[in-house]
Amino acid sequence: MLRRRQVGFTLMEVLVVVGIIAVLAAIMFPTFFAARERARLTVCTSNLRQLGLAIQMYMQDWEWEPFWLSGLVPAYLSREGILFCPDDRSHPKGSDLDRQGRFTEYRDPYLRCSYLYEFNPLIFPLDKFGPDFPNQPPGLTWRQVKYWDLRIYGEKTPLVRCWWHTDVMGSGEQVLNLAHDGHVYRHPQSQSWTTQ
Ligand SMILES: [Zn+2]
Repeated sequence: MLRRRQVGFTLMEVLVVVGIIAVLAAIMFPTFFAARERARLTVCTSNLRQLGLAIQMYMQDWEWEPFWLSGLVPAYLSREGILFCPDDRSHPKGSDLDRQGRFTEYRDPYLRCSYLYEFNPLIFPLDKFGPDFPNQPPGLTWRQVKYWDLRIYGEKTPLVRCWWHTDVMGSGEQVLNLAHDGHVYRHPQSQSWTTQ
């Protein structure tokens, strides 16, 4: 008498297959997410470079920095899309300037934007960053402080920062920023951003 042929899989076979899939997923997922983050970092860096070019064109015409990044639109910047970092998780995009909701009070008043523009005309929070700026009278604007920085630190003074590209969970906070010299730098926040 013939034995009845077994149909389907045994429980052991299913468990082995599930185990293999789980191991593969565990190996592939971090690689996949790291690749996606690298791609987002590349887009953000490209955005900052394009903003740098637009600001340089603006300065050639006006001889000073724009008061806001929105001042670049539309004459110097036709694509508003580059004002958004792909890592910006705020809703709507640009409603927060970083993933912890910091710096919201310094966002562009005219256009949603993921980036902190450092030559803005708002009052600089000397109480927060006071130790770096001793003997300064209160009421200085970001713009005035940054002109001060330019005289001291030169063209590597940050002009536009992406606070979405920060490693806030790690020990060395990294900030991606466009410097006045048109280059994009990635600096440890805890160290001088002029030493790159
Ligand atoms: Zn970014």
